[in-house]
Amino acid sequence: MIKLNFERDVIIMALYNMKELLDDAQRKQYGIGYFNAVNMEMVRAYISAAEEAESPIIIGTAEALLDIASFDWIVPLMIDQAKNAKVPVAIHLDHTYHFDTLMQALRAGFGSIMYDGSRETHEQNTENSKRIVDIAHAMGASVECELGSVGGLSDETGGEDITEYTNPNEAKAFIEKTGADFLAVSIGTAHGVYESTPKLDLERLGMIRETVDVPLVLHGGSGLSDEDFQGTIANGITKINVFTDIISAAADALTKNSGVSYLEGLQLAEAAMKRETLRKMTVFGSVGRA
Ligand SMILES: [Zn+2]
Repeated sequence: MIKLNFERDVIIMALYNMKELLDDAQRKQYGIGYFNAVNMEMVRAYISAAEEAESPIIIGTAEALLDIASFDWIVPLMIDQAKNAKVPVAIHLDHTYHFDTLMQALRAGFGSIMYDGSRETHEQNTENSKRIVDIAHAMGASVECELGSVGGLSDETGGEDITEYTNPNEAKAFIEKTGADFLAVSIGTAHGVYESTPKLDLERLGMIRETVDVPLVLHGGSGLSDEDFQGTIANGITKINVFTDIISAAADALTKNSGVSYLEGLQLAEAAMKRETLRKMTVFGSVGRA
């Protein structure tokens, strides 16, 4: 029998589970932002914004970002900063497609993970989601799954995900069969930069909200108006993923200040990302909820 050496392989779980944070937000009907980080400046921008706003926050990374920031150092960094924060910070893994990566994430210490089965058939998505939920729950972690497909992300072959709206009639059975803790829904948003103004299907969102109890997640939030965000929160969204708006704020700051030194650039980018995070927290209604 293989004897595990727990002295060497200490698994440090994140301090807050995303579930605790989202359950409170769902009860009180406000939104909590989720923000991807690939370096120290991003982690610091998010957490200092959350502290200033006295807001809970969810930070993390995603499978597509692992080439820039591997679990080995970004997870300990995020956990360390989360533990020292004055507000609740949950560490979550965004869009991940491969079983091995999801298992490595649990081992690395994520309190919650997203399995994105939107590229699979409905049956395969349901089957894979259940398998991953069973394992994560046994380890005390929670899982976000996606039903339908929020378009805009590119797969490994460069193909772009199609948009397929979440079917409210399938949502209840999907949650019951998989045991997923959070549901990512497709209601008219897309990842990346919008070429035309997105039209949200809030009626569909309201119908999904009526059929399932778990916190609902909005992907592709960047580029929506403040009214759009507030409309989705009023109709049942609890977690809002924002990435493009944050990195665009950093890029704008660098463009406007071309010619600055690398170190000044780092500081300008961090300050711009903090300002944008604070702005989002105000819109989502999470200010003062920590
Ligand atoms: Zn997403």
